[in-house]
Amino acid sequence: MMFKDFLWLILKENVVINLIYKYLAPRFFCGNVFFDVRNLPIINKDQILKIGNKPNTKFSVKGYTSGTTNKPMTVYRSLQSIFLEEYIIKSYMYENGVGISPRIAVLRGEHLFPANHTGPTFWVKTLFTRRLFLSSYHISQANAHLYLEALENFKPEVIMAYPSSISLLAKFAQKLDWKPNWDLACVLTSSELFSKENQQTVAGVFGKVLDHYGQAERVAALQLCEQGNYHIRPDYSHVEVLHNEHGQHIVGTNIYNSAMPLRRYDTNDYVEGFDSHSKCSCGNHSPFVEKILGRDDDYLILPNGTYVGRMDVAFKGVTTIVESQIEQVERDRIIIRFVPKELDNIKAIEHELSNKIQERLGDSIRIEFIAMEKVPRTRSGKFRSVLRSADISINI
Ligand SMILES: [Zn+2]
Repeated sequence: MMFKDFLWLILKENVVINLIYKYLAPRFFCGNVFFDVRNLPIINKDQILKIGNKPNTKFSVKGYTSGTTNKPMTVYRSLQSIFLEEYIIKSYMYENGVGISPRIAVLRGEHLFPANHTGPTFWVKTLFTRRLFLSSYHISQANAHLYLEALENFKPEVIMAYPSSISLLAKFAQKLDWKPNWDLACVLTSSELFSKENQQTVAGVFGKVLDHYGQAERVAALQLCEQGNYHIRPDYSHVEVLHNEHGQHIVGTNIYNSAMPLRRYDTNDYVEGFDSHSKCSCGNHSPFVEKILGRDDDYLILPNGTYVGRMDVAFKGVTTIVESQIEQVERDRIIIRFVPKELDNIKAIEHELSNKIQERLGDSIRIEFIAMEKVPRTRSGKFRSVLRSADISINI
């Protein structure tokens, strides 16, 4: 961690580099490069995996796509692409009133302590950079006040978090009637779907919420504005919102990654509310979508072959649970893991969830419930609200 932190200081966090990001980078990444991609074919991850994937340049840095039901893919980034990524996040913060070299608390799935760690500290302060790393894995009703005290003591200007982690902490903070007592500029989230409902909960506790949507392939960046819309960053890549039988989806062409140029790459991420003619009242003129819905593999497939998407909102309005996850393990069987708010009415909660599910799926699918303290995360600590076992194929 110390070495990583030192590298971080050199590459990302010192005042000089922050000044460069703030004042010079906008000229460099002025974007809006015109690409006439209309005649090019659309490609996707499966096609790239099929033909094999090698870096296009001598120097590149490796990354991996995540994905639980799909195979992971290695991606390559040029130095320019790495700087661009940093710039696109930093400029988003600067535009929203964050200072040049902010103190940052991080709640993003770092493995800091073993699962059975009981505290009383659940965080690590770094030596060189002004960051406080908090564990995403130990937030509970019993520990929440310790997390909130740690934040009060550290007084970060920004909290960088996974949506699921900060939503969980916000729900416990609400119960404690807690609000930040220092000047917190914003919460900045990314990497997971962030429902409007949870965004409101987090904003109600912590104030301004910024949410960045991107993907490991780095072909599109969209960022949440104060009106709740996600604006396309035209200085990042060339983005098309296309329509197929499942809805509107994001196809992107990168501009600044010579190590892995991708032209018309289908992210497989679906969105809602895109209209190239509509204007957002926040003042940002770039095109926007109202909602990011998520991936194709978030669908459940019924025994008769129909598939049902958007299950992540199935439990909207249910106030008796803290979080939940639906996993389809067989064609006719799903498991629902949930964290109850109170332990004494589990049967009633199961009944309520069961009704909600049957409204959407009918009764051709068996439901099993597992009440737990915390829904398990992926290896990188991410939360998935809907999962489907790999052998339940979408092409049935
Ligand atoms: Zn807007």
